[in-house]
Amino acid sequence: MTPTLIQNIECFITRPDRHNLVTVRVTTDKGVTGHGCATFQQRPLAVKTLVDEYLKPLLIGRDANNIEDLWQMMNVNAYWRNGPVMNNAISGVDMALWDIKGQLADMPLYQLLGGKSRDAIAAYSHASGETLDELFAAVDKLLAEGYRHIRCQLGFYGGTPAQLHTPENPVAGAYFDQQEYMANTVAMFKALREKYGYRLQILHDVHERLFPQQAVQLAKQLEPYQPYFIEDILPPAQSAWLDQVRQHSSAPLAMGELFNNPAEWHDLIVNRRIDFIRCHISQIGGITPALKLAILCQAFGVRLAWHGPGDMTPIGVAVNTHLNIHLHNAAIQEFIPRSASTDAVFPGAPEVKDGFVYAPEKPGIGVSFDAGQAEVFPGVYRPHEWTQSRLADGAIHTP
Ligand code: MG
Repeated sequence: MTPTLIQNIECFITRPDRHNLVTVRVTTDKGVTGHGCATFQQRPLAVKTLVDEYLKPLLIGRDANNIEDLWQMMNVNAYWRNGPVMNNAISGVDMALWDIKGQLADMPLYQLLGGKSRDAIAAYSHASGETLDELFAAVDKLLAEGYRHIRCQLGFYGGTPAQLHTPENPVAGAYFDQQEYMANTVAMFKALREKYGYRLQILHDVHERLFPQQAVQLAKQLEPYQPYFIEDILPPAQSAWLDQVRQHSSAPLAMGELFNNPAEWHDLIVNRRIDFIRCHISQIGGITPALKLAILCQAFGVRLAWHGPGDMTPIGVAVNTHLNIHLHNAAIQEFIPRSASTDAVFPGAPEVKDGFVYAPEKPGIGVSFDAGQAEVFPGVYRPHEWTQSRLADGAIHTP
């Protein structure tokens, strides 16, 4: 195969809706252009600087056909590696290179990887409410749209505290109360099962709001209600406690959106401490490492539930879909509805139809990027209060 030389690499930040979205464009001498998701919405300028100042000079003139070699080189070129800023920058390039390869082969990405292992991937979306009645209304809406898997939350992550007892003059932050959250969550599961029976698959995201022994208690208390999975019951730094969670509860556990590198997921997979891995594909460096992770998971019976939040470009959504359609151990896909302005910047992104996402059929990743439209929605940074989560006494806690 003749070389496909990289002529230019650009990085764009746009905020068509609530989040800063970061996109990388790679241009080649064959007239084929690829796009990738590099979104780190709280640190977009850091990612853009890394792409513009370090990856672009490293990669111009190299052969875009050799994705594996370029990924390995990007990963070690700075010597220090595996951080979220660098991984997102590498992902932007990596996805763009796979997009280019698919276009050169005239195949959608899932075909390039080996073809289908399913007709479509089941999607889940989010229902939440400050009260059970609000939550039921949100669940009813998603059921009517065709979803059969729904993530259910009462209030924001960790719940919305009604009886917070704080010291005087509390420091600013997003406060929550662990005991109140646990009690309300168990009551929520009970109410959902009483109302909907078992025709609904219920997912729930603890968002690492608990201390380890509280996580053991909650998993045990939720077991009778058969959750589809409980997500991020502990922060990555406390994942060794998952053995104890599993000794007390058969509730399936999902984890991974905060992981950056294989050292964080290897032991959880080979020791079967989780049932579902939820890595954020741009956060781990793109399609190239995601394929390796997925194959490792398959050998140990761990299924895939890629992270699919609003702070991800539709290019990333399409990548998740291609992997889900191809990889046999894909289980389910988180899906957040998009705004019309987001679709205007990124035409061609996958939709949910009656609770399923189908394979994109255009060559490559199949989502385009309109740089002119992106300029209409410039990036805006603000300090995020929700990542300043605090317990009642004012202590900061993982968000
Ligand atoms: Mg989550």
